[in-house]
Amino acid sequence: MDPKLYEKYSRQILFAPIGAAGQQRLLEASAVLVGCGALGTAAANLLVRAGLGRLRIVDRDFVELSNLQRQVLFDEADAREALPKAVAAERKLRAINSGVEVEGVVADLVPRNAEELLSGFDLILDGTDNFETRYLMNDVAVKLGAPWIYAAAVGGYGVTMTIRPGKSPCLACLLERPEPGAAGLEETCDTIGVLNAAASVIASLEAAEAIKLLVGASDAGEGRLVAVEVWAGRFQSICAERNPECRACVRHDFRYLAGAEQPHVTLCGRDSVQIHERGRRLDLELLGQVVLQADLLDGLKLGLQPVDVFLLAPQLSP
Ligand SMILES: [Zn+2]
Repeated sequence: MDPKLYEKYSRQILFAPIGAAGQQRLLEASAVLVGCGALGTAAANLLVRAGLGRLRIVDRDFVELSNLQRQVLFDEADAREALPKAVAAERKLRAINSGVEVEGVVADLVPRNAEELLSGFDLILDGTDNFETRYLMNDVAVKLGAPWIYAAAVGGYGVTMTIRPGKSPCLACLLERPEPGAAGLEETCDTIGVLNAAASVIASLEAAEAIKLLVGASDAGEGRLVAVEVWAGRFQSICAERNPECRACVRHDFRYLAGAEQPHVTLCGRDSVQIHERGRRLDLELLGQVVLQADLLDGLKLGLQPVDVFLLAPQLSP
């Protein structure tokens, strides 16, 4: 490795699980990030500083004043100019590390462009704020056989899981139930807020998993769902299992990529559009129930059914 590069990344090279060989792999690796909000900016910041080779950022939104509390790549000038997040992030990241090839793409990830935007990268990263886009990303990742990292944060809590199609559970394994539910997802950062530290913790876990995967660590992406309640200081790590009848990773029914699942769109927040679905029980009440179940089973050998493994909610607090 070039001596200047060695010096630049020396503290990371000294970290034994990465080493010089791992750093070299990272410098040659690429990732595409969908969504450049709290999670996306924090994860991109870490990965660009770590010396990722190439990063594409896909985001459709513009920087607003209310973003600055948690979206670490943006400042007041970006909000005043209402810059597209993909543009502002690219600019800031290039200033942070000119050795990384950063490409901001101002676009909404939709079935029509998803495969093209996500193809050709070693890893796909979740920085989105809605399940519609995540299911689309899951369909594309499974179809391409590309690893991706699911991440979400709202309120004081968050969750993340690395998905290696065909090897570990996919998002549909985890979340899709055979029977349709009643309510749609209503709570978002626009309705119940988000603690910047919660997003930061989840983004850090996501970046750590990304680095592990990209340097080729053998223990990367073992299908563990990690849930964190930052306000109460609680962590859970649960081993999830594949659904042997999974619509996506077993039957290869890519209905979100095919556009068969039409999103229900509502206005939510000042200048933003929130896309969510009716008929899918992904509300926090459900998540809370499932976490309580997971809590009860804590310490047991967890061979839970897909959805029963799930997230965390305020109920995690004792
Ligand atoms: Zn699956």
